[in-house]
Amino acid sequence: MITLEKLRKFFLSLQSIYNDKKLYLSELDSAIGDGDHGVNMARGFDAVINDLNAKPPVDLEGVFKSVSMSLIKTVGGASGPLYGTFFRKMSLAAGKKNEIGLDEWIDGMSKGIEGIVQLGKAQKGDKTMLDALFPALEALKAQKDAGKDLADALSASAKAAQEGAISTIPLIAKKGRASYLGERSAGHQDPGATSSAMLLQAAADTLS
Ligand code: ADP
Ligand code: MG
Repeated sequence: MITLEKLRKFFLSLQSIYNDKKLYLSELDSAIGDGDHGVNMARGFDAVINDLNAKPPVDLEGVFKSVSMSLIKTVGGASGPLYGTFFRKMSLAAGKKNEIGLDEWIDGMSKGIEGIVQLGKAQKGDKTMLDALFPALEALKAQKDAGKDLADALSASAKAAQEGAISTIPLIAKKGRASYLGERSAGHQDPGATSSAMLLQAAADTLS
């Protein structure tokens, strides 16, 4: 089960990952955007942890809501509102519970992804974070249908997200700053898909 304590560990691990990978993510963004994605994510998740420590939420919904607000407040750029919406929608799936399982995680991912689509209007193959998130959700559902447990499902979704991030390399960006480059955006891995793959790897490492 995903408990309050595990969720805290998940966000702590994201803070550390995005700080460790700050340069790498910003380098990816330099190739097809404005070079700030790593800085945005590190700043955002520093704020996430500061805010969770300052006012520890009492249920899972509260944690996701707090994370969402921290990201929207501190991350300038497209990714702040998009990840903010993702976690805000995840809070709806968690509700006032103290622990959730695979079913609610799938529900949360699916609502979260819907939120990103509604806000950013991107589709599969547009070379965005969704190209990591969609396959991750598909993998979760397939694992559930095959009767697998949370640990197996999270690890399959992390793998699918990583493959999805790599699959963005040949794509031509249709949304966000990278789309201004048109065909010149091909040949580079999308920074947002890469940070999403990191998020799902952290989920596999901390939530099962
Ligand atoms: P900005 O582009 O404003 O500088 P970031 O660099 O932090 O913001 O984030 C860029 C990432 O945001 C892209 O790599 C892409 O994955 C994601 N992104 C941009 N626009 C959209 C969109 N409309 N839908 C989904 N993801 C998007
Ligand atoms: Mg950028």
